[in-house]
Amino acid sequence: MRPVIAVHAGAGTWRYLRIRDVIPVIERALRSGMEVIASGGMAVDAAVKATIALEDSGLLNAGLGSVVDLTGNVTMDAGVMDGETGGIGAVAAVTYPKNPVLLAKKVMELTDHVLLAGEGADKLAKALGMERHPGPTERVMGRYRELLAKIKEGGAVRFRKSYELALKLGWLDLHDTVGAVALDREGRLAAAVSTGGVIMKFPGRVGDSAIPGAGFYATQKGAAVATGIGEVIIKSFLALSVVRRIESGLPAMEAAERTIEELTKDYGKDTAGVLVVDGEGNAWASYNTEAMPWGFLRLGDRAPTISGLPESS
Ligand code: ASP
Repeated sequence: MRPVIAVHAGAGTWRYLRIRDVIPVIERALRSGMEVIASGGMAVDAAVKATIALEDSGLLNAGLGSVVDLTGNVTMDAGVMDGETGGIGAVAAVTYPKNPVLLAKKVMELTDHVLLAGEGADKLAKALGMERHPGPTERVMGRYRELLAKIKEGGAVRFRKSYELALKLGWLDLHDTVGAVALDREGRLAAAVSTGGVIMKFPGRVGDSAIPGAGFYATQKGAAVATGIGEVIIKSFLALSVVRRIESGLPAMEAAERTIEELTKDYGKDTAGVLVVDGEGNAWASYNTEAMPWGFLRLGDRAPTISGLPESS
């Protein structure tokens, strides 16, 4: 067994970001999580710390870089699971915290609940003195305006039904998730995930990242985090399916590959990806999208291993 931290920067086409900007973010997140493991800390703290580094990059679709909904507002989901204790914390549709994954961990540690949503969760973040989210970045708003213009011209939109409903309700005047899985020195496993959701989502929409078993799951044998279209991930309970396969004896790679194969048969290509680690310290990501940049760093390794980059990079 070799302790390891693995992170991903989201499954998708990766047309909107320069991949050379993303690699240092992945490396930074891996080193930040590994600091916790190397000093004898817990997998859950390592996974959360690595996810915070991804949220704070402002480049990826989580924390500071979160995408916006149809009305141009940021609402975020996040989840944490400690495979050792079975503890879970999650938040849905929050707007206040800069680091939703940290709030998810507080839900696990401080409340009797698994999932807090919206106003109550935001109030807790404020009461705990958490840093406040400054609102969408210029880059995200640029993309939002581009998409709105496309819709106005009658162009294709992924969430056509949601868009038409928002328009009818007068909500429109027409004027990319991250995650980490870790195995610590004591053999404890954990998963952490955070997202701004999918761009142009209907206000109030909650994705897989807030739902244990869908966007994240961890036991004493395996830990997994998902990325892609949340609706598909929820319907297929992606993270739980992968961990179940590990529990039945498959190593991380086979468990991930088989599960994504099955999901692709049911829901088609360009829908999802999953990052997983097993109790031996094998880390793997499987996806049916063009790319899913991810990496891992084992205790004692000098340099991280990075993979899942788009072919053109
Ligand atoms: N799975 C996330 C969601 O649907 C999005 C992503 O992975 O980028 O909320």
